[in-house]
Amino acid sequence: MADIQTIYSILLAKSYQEQLFSDLIGIRKREAGGRETLVTCPFCQKERHFSYNRDKPVWKCWHCGEGGDWIAYLQKAKGLDFKDAVLWLARDARSTTRFEVSLPSRSAFVGVDGDR
Ligand SMILES: [Zn+2]
Repeated sequence: MADIQTIYSILLAKSYQEQLFSDLIGIRKREAGGRETLVTCPFCQKERHFSYNRDKPVWKCWHCGEGGDWIAYLQKAKGLDFKDAVLWLARDARSTTRFEVSLPSRSAFVGVDGDR
């Protein structure tokens, strides 16, 4: 059984953030020694204000304040519900690793948001 932290670990090792955020437009600007990437926010369209991290499954817009983990991004950007967002990530993680997914409660993610 794999929980979401395991899924995130697998995906981070694959630089999944570059795939997840690949359809965002705008100039990509690296900051914090390359750990942070700034790009145009898909929600408020502000250039170079949407930030995602190389080491953690988090993102945030410094203009409109939207942010969260990758599940929250899939929910907001793709219109998925929580369960489908977890399954989306699990499917992409599973391309290299086989496991069963257990669905955790949303409360398990409190504390991920905004932790830079
Ligand atoms: Zn924004």
